[in-house]
Amino acid sequence: MTRRRRSESRSGHDARHEVPNPAPAPAALPGVVVRAYGKFFTVQLADGRELLSTIKGVLKRQRRGTDLVAVGDSVLVRDVGEGEGRIESVAPRTRTLSRLARHTNDVEQIILANPDQALFLFAVRNPEPHLRLLDRFLVMAESRNLPALIGVNKMDLDVITADGTASLAGSLFGRYEGIYPVFYASAKTGEGIDKLRRALDGQITAVAGPSGVGKSSLLNVLDPARERAVGAISVATGKGRHTTTATVLHRIPGEAQTFVADTPGIRALSLQGVASDELDQFFPEMRPFLGQCRYADCSHLSEPGCAVLAAVDGGEIGRERYESYASLRRGETAEES
Ligand code: GDP
Ligand code: ZN
Repeated sequence: MTRRRRSESRSGHDARHEVPNPAPAPAALPGVVVRAYGKFFTVQLADGRELLSTIKGVLKRQRRGTDLVAVGDSVLVRDVGEGEGRIESVAPRTRTLSRLARHTNDVEQIILANPDQALFLFAVRNPEPHLRLLDRFLVMAESRNLPALIGVNKMDLDVITADGTASLAGSLFGRYEGIYPVFYASAKTGEGIDKLRRALDGQITAVAGPSGVGKSSLLNVLDPARERAVGAISVATGKGRHTTTATVLHRIPGEAQTFVADTPGIRALSLQGVASDELDQFFPEMRPFLGQCRYADCSHLSEPGCAVLAAVDGGEIGRERYESYASLRRGETAEES
């Protein structure tokens, strides 16, 4: 094999000097990276076919300080036969959901490339929703400029509250309506699934939530073929379903390219990189009041003349959300590892 040196010129004008390949190679195909295992990546082609792929050598010299290829990347892959592929190029990322690795010279670890939005999934009950966790997820999404959606599953288990005035779901998640889109659904009855499906259409959505809320059940309802696919991979790798922190991208059938990413690693992002004095900006309902406090560096915890506290008293900012802000501001904003 002869190895041609890459031209020193970056202008591209000397492309005409390149000797054409002797045998016409099939064109590289566009695909999306749906799973990663160390040096191997599963690339899904437009027709749904998957190629277990490695990265072409020349690519490895580019992209320092970040993962070369990550789940969510759009790539060009060459089919080399036997179900295998070679990734030849990676499209520039629109954005990334990543964490700083602590022990490898601060190379960022990409949890998901090219996310369009995040869906935080909870159940109305069983398990009881942990709304402080939801608020932390929402701050994480705001701090990364990622539009957030809230999903409330198990609506078939919703009940009327003790005082008879509201549903449990409304009393818990009503406070988020008007700030974030809230989708009430049931994987069991199918309620709300169409609306959720429309919100996911054509997007790459990172999904996160505590276990037991029905994430797998919901994915199965959105894509009934999925369970079969996961089973097939287990056989191929000889491993269990999949590891607990790896991102897996699921294609949702339909006309548009729709992907839902199971991103257990999102929990570890927590408030990484969020400074306590910028926390208030990540509560959208507080934004109209920021800059109106008596003190420019107001923490909105107890200062006189605080516009945020006045808005809480006036009912313009929900008290529970404010309490979440206050507890994070009081001490949980330090970067967690
Ligand atoms: P995951 O851990 O978030 O992936 O949750 P699973 O999909 O494994 O679901 C956990 C449990 O909740 C299972 O016993 C499901 O059958 C049940 N479950 C999921 N969705 C619903 C729902 O909409 N209503 C009810 N009543 N149960 C559900
Ligand atoms: Zn204030």
